[in-house]
Amino acid sequence: MIKPLLALTALLSTSALADTLVTNVNGIQAGSDGQLQHFSGLIIANDGKVKTVLAGPPPPITFEHTVDGHGQTLLPGLIDGHGHVIDLGFYALRLDVTGVQSLAEFQQRLRDYAAAHPDTKWILGGGWNQELWPVKKFPTTADLDAIVSDRPVVLERVDGHAIVANSAAMKAAGVTAATQAPAGGEIHDGVFVDNAERLINDAIPKPTASENDQALAKAQEILLGYGVTGVGSMSTRVADWEAFKRAGAAGTLNVRLMSYLSGTESMTAVPKPTGWLYGDRLRAVGIKLFADGALGSRGAWLKQPYADKPESRGLQFHSDAELLKLADTAASHGFQVATHAIGDAANAQVITVYEQLSKKYGADRRWRIEHFQIVDPADIARLAPAGIIASMQPTHQTSDRLMAEARLGPNRLAGAYAWQTVLKDGARLAFGTDFPVENPNPFPGLATGISRQDMNGQPPGGWIPSERLTFAQDLYAYTRGSAYAGFAEDKIGALEPGKYADFILVDRDPTKVDPVSLGNTQVLETWVGGKRVFERAPSASAAPERGR
Ligand SMILES: [Zn+2]
Repeated sequence: MIKPLLALTALLSTSALADTLVTNVNGIQAGSDGQLQHFSGLIIANDGKVKTVLAGPPPPITFEHTVDGHGQTLLPGLIDGHGHVIDLGFYALRLDVTGVQSLAEFQQRLRDYAAAHPDTKWILGGGWNQELWPVKKFPTTADLDAIVSDRPVVLERVDGHAIVANSAAMKAAGVTAATQAPAGGEIHDGVFVDNAERLINDAIPKPTASENDQALAKAQEILLGYGVTGVGSMSTRVADWEAFKRAGAAGTLNVRLMSYLSGTESMTAVPKPTGWLYGDRLRAVGIKLFADGALGSRGAWLKQPYADKPESRGLQFHSDAELLKLADTAASHGFQVATHAIGDAANAQVITVYEQLSKKYGADRRWRIEHFQIVDPADIARLAPAGIIASMQPTHQTSDRLMAEARLGPNRLAGAYAWQTVLKDGARLAFGTDFPVENPNPFPGLATGISRQDMNGQPPGGWIPSERLTFAQDLYAYTRGSAYAGFAEDKIGALEPGKYADFILVDRDPTKVDPVSLGNTQVLETWVGGKRVFERAPSASAAPERGR
């Protein structure tokens, strides 16, 4: 019985892999020349790659499979240049306090979650942002103890640069009132900032392999529902990498991951870049480093003191020599280097390190700066000559603008979130969200890219509107730009012969709607390698389950 069945399966799969015609679509993509291209269909070969991009009616031949797009808009799959994949899954599975508007609401969510999860030994989660609260004060240990005192609670700030812990968590971690914050960190009233986070985090039981697998599956479900088919997977822990490999081997990795391992210490487990694995679904391409903290917790390292904390310039994570050594170590093993830098001093330091390394290693190492948020305008012009890519997140601009004004004052924002200046100065831009710091939905980011406004249309006219992009530049950054930033432009980022048929069908034409409508775009179908991997249920009009 077994042999004939196998033969039949082989026959079926052969016929099922014949060319596919996708026709009757309003195809739009960013061309290699930076202009928008319009097309009407695709022919997809049996290897999942584009064979032909059709400008007019389909050729008069019979295809094994025909997909009628019913005139719907088709875009290349969007590539988030910077996201945290496993964390996205965990955030969706853990207590999510994103967007809560007061301490009382924060406490209510904790009370509800604790009641709903009586067996969860450590209550973990995050997303709080005291900047949204009437009293912009960090939550404290006492605020948590009042709700949950019988088991540890650790809740992360929305930017990941601070956590608040209850007494049970501090006891489990062996932290007392006498505990000193390590260099590059701070402790106050149960809030642990930047390097001090590990005093608590090191005590949290590590997720099991199966918990990591669940988180990865959840993250993929969220990403594909938003039309994200590729990710620059940042700060990949070795356990994350193992989960990615398990999914790759099982054939369940549908989002293509360009992985940047967490720090040079990961090189003991993954000593070299891997090249593409599992049918071009996974690749270890780089090492992620940090130069400073974030603006929300005043951990971003600034050239001048904070306007709202004049005794501080933020946190410098490494001396120049240390950062050079770390980046050089990664580069000497063939890794691309991606360094987090938010403040203008941190950005200047990273640029100086990359300038030295670009002389040592020559062209096309694609040095990446992650976030590139607050930059001295004089330093932006230094990117292009050293081949440095600005990996930026447009929704950070809308989330952070009022805080950036408070932290820096009005006169130090000329190089803040300066997308158009980056391009004008000849450098490359990659767009993403930094999920789960921001929601992974790419469309609000694409909307902000052209408007410098949030989803409520604020502020009128856009924030520093000279930094707005055209839609062609914007889409380019979210497709070709992010592919290039991950050394993947030969495979993804555009629908062209020889590249993968990773594409999405959406419910509106982004070139014909206003920015708020663009931001509300719904993904109808997501295809990866010529196969449909997400289809919106016909009745569902709401967005897929939110990540953070
Ligand atoms: Zn990040």
